[in-house]
Amino acid sequence: MKPTQQCPCCGSDSFQEWTKATDREYRTTDETFTLYRCNNCESLYLHPVPIDRLSIIYPSNYYSFAEQNTSIISSIKTGLDKRFFRQLSQSVKKQSLTALDVGGGVGWELNVLQEADNRVKNTMIVDLDPDAAAGAAKNGHGYFCGRIEEYETTTKYDIILMLNLIEHVEFPSEVLKKCRELLSDEGIIIIKTPNCDALDARIFRNRNWGGFHCPRHWTLFTKSSFELCAKNAGLSVKTFSYTQGAPFWATSTLFALENIGMVKITKERPVVYHPLYAPLTGIFAGFDFIRGIFAKTSQMFFVLEKGKQI
Ligand SMILES: [Zn+2]
Repeated sequence: MKPTQQCPCCGSDSFQEWTKATDREYRTTDETFTLYRCNNCESLYLHPVPIDRLSIIYPSNYYSFAEQNTSIISSIKTGLDKRFFRQLSQSVKKQSLTALDVGGGVGWELNVLQEADNRVKNTMIVDLDPDAAAGAAKNGHGYFCGRIEEYETTTKYDIILMLNLIEHVEFPSEVLKKCRELLSDEGIIIIKTPNCDALDARIFRNRNWGGFHCPRHWTLFTKSSFELCAKNAGLSVKTFSYTQGAPFWATSTLFALENIGMVKITKERPVVYHPLYAPLTGIFAGFDFIRGIFAKTSQMFFVLEKGKQI
C-alpha cells in the first residue's frame, strides 16, 4: 500500500512517481529516493523526507558550511548580488531598515545587503547550524539557532532573505506564513529557489539532475506552483525573474562524465570540490546568461510582499 502523502506546496494528494535519485553529490548515503510530481500544481517533491538524518545528509564538508570563497567568480557574484539587493531595497521607503536572513549561516548575504544599502541596521539570522553563531556575531548580526517556525520576536522585518532555503524545508507553506508574520507592512521577502520546469531538469530527469540535490531538496517548484504556495500564505509576487542555474548544469554534467569513467566523485571530494566544477560552472553561466533572454532557466528569484488578504 502506498503511504498517504500530500504535496508540500499545494496539499493535493494526487501525484505520480516522477523519478528516482541518489546522493551522487556528497555520497552521504547509498539509499535511493523517490521524487513525486504533484498532479495539481506540478511541483516535485521527495517522499518520505529524511528529516531524522539531517546530520548525515548535511556532512561537515557541505558547501554552505565552508569559508567564504574569494575566487574571481565569487567576487563577480557578490558584485551582482549587491546591485540586485540595492535595486530591491530601494523600493522600501524608510529611514532605516531591519533585515532577516533565514538560513543565512554567518551572514555573508546580510553583509552584502548592508554594503548595498547603508540604511540596513538591525540584522538577524535564523539558521540550524550552531557553529555559525560565533561567525554571525563577529559580522555584527543577531543569531537564533533553530527553525524559523520556532523564532519568536516582536521585531518586524523590512527585508527577509531566503536564498536557496525554501526547497530544503519540510513545510514550505508554513515557512512562508511565518515570514509573512515577521514582515513589516511595507517589507519584501527575497526568495531564490530552483525551477523544476527547466531544460536541464528535463534532460537529466532520470540521471540525477543537479537540481534534485538529492536528498536535500525536498520540494522543487515551478513559477506557477510557487506563486500558488505564496498566495496561500497571504503573500503576492511583486517581481519575478529567472536566473542562471549553472551549478545544476555543472553537477549534472559531472555525473554524466562519471558514468563514462572520465571523472570520479567521492565522499571526500564531492562534486562542488571537483577541479572541473568551477570551469564547468563558468561555461554554463555564460550559456544560461544568453539562454535566459528567451528561456526558463533553472533558478528563480521571487520578491514577495504582503498580499491583499490572507
Ligand atoms: Zn501540489
